[in-house]
Amino acid sequence: MQADDATEEAERALRLCSACMFCDDYCAVFPAIAGKHDFSLADVSYLANLCHNCRGCYHACQYAPPHELAVNLPQALARVRIRSYAGFARPRWLGRAFAHNATIVALVSVLSVLAVLLVADPAKLLSANSGEGAFYRVVPREIMVGGALAALALSLTTLALGVAAFWRAIAPDGSRAALLRALPRALADTVTLRYLGGGDGGCGDRIEAPSRLRRLFHHLMVGGLGLSFGATAVAAYYHRWLGWEAPYPLLSLPVGLGAVGGVLMLLGAGGLIVQKLRADRAPSAAETLPADYAMLVLIIGNAASGLALLAWRSTAAMGLLLTLHLGLVLALFLLLPVGKLVHAPFRFAALLRAALERNRAVSPKR
Ligand code: SF4
Ligand code: SF4
Repeated sequence: MQADDATEEAERALRLCSACMFCDDYCAVFPAIAGKHDFSLADVSYLANLCHNCRGCYHACQYAPPHELAVNLPQALARVRIRSYAGFARPRWLGRAFAHNATIVALVSVLSVLAVLLVADPAKLLSANSGEGAFYRVVPREIMVGGALAALALSLTTLALGVAAFWRAIAPDGSRAALLRALPRALADTVTLRYLGGGDGGCGDRIEAPSRLRRLFHHLMVGGLGLSFGATAVAAYYHRWLGWEAPYPLLSLPVGLGAVGGVLMLLGAGGLIVQKLRADRAPSAAETLPADYAMLVLIIGNAASGLALLAWRSTAAMGLLLTLHLGLVLALFLLLPVGKLVHAPFRFAALLRAALERNRAVSPKR
């Protein structure tokens, strides 16, 4: 990752905050900078990923614009955060995808749907086709499962390489035992979104109305993604071990999990978009918004196409809805290392360092 005007501005804001510390109990960023006056590039990218962009410190800040010091910590850290996703991407050329992220997400989505259309049986695309194995008469199961697993394996490997590069840059010295001791706390902080609270009143998307809605919508969306993954796992178990072929009855576990998961994804991602549209612009970083919106729209596309497939699977629309849904799922998998979802493992890595430092079992790397 290279230094530039964004990292320099974040470092300036962090130095001012470390001298001020008015917001010391707002989130994990302030305890992490307490007593420090110099921040390396690795420190800045660590702190950028430790920030949950709750905006609480911006609304509380007596040095925020129009003050001449113009401290805008959420914006400064958000600009560095997206640079860290790009800077630690492996292979490095993948990092360019963050510069025009909405275009990349749209392009990958369209190409993925076209790819599924190409392998689908044209004779089955526009005709009603129901009963056991109906989906596999449109897209052969070997291609459906093999393509999804290959895309997922490629993406997870690439993502792991990027997160490992980030971790190597920010990791403090310490023993493996200290790392293991810090893991439960870091996991709990990641899963509960502990630092999306913005101090007391909740997330400061709007200065006049801090609320906990963003955390709620985020939990709904992640819960929905988890249930949908669970539905796929149960369906795979049914097929592999029980010999039952999709589509499954409405009152079956995979359909129940998938339907509830789809609704939660719609509510969560839709709610996050509304929150984002209504949020104060001042603490936002404009260059991060396309990636945010693009991933939320793709998640909505996944959920909506899945629910539409469930609703119209016995009609002539099933073939096209299936190819649309499979294409969007494929796009979601392919975009894991180059879309907004990278924030999850990056934030976990930052929270792990914070937990390590909090445990005082290690000393920060300089
Ligand atoms: S955000 Fe402003 S008030 Fe809060 S610690 Fe930084 S300089 Fe101080
Ligand atoms: S925006 Fe929220 S999470 Fe980020 S530094 Fe400020 S208070 Fe902490």
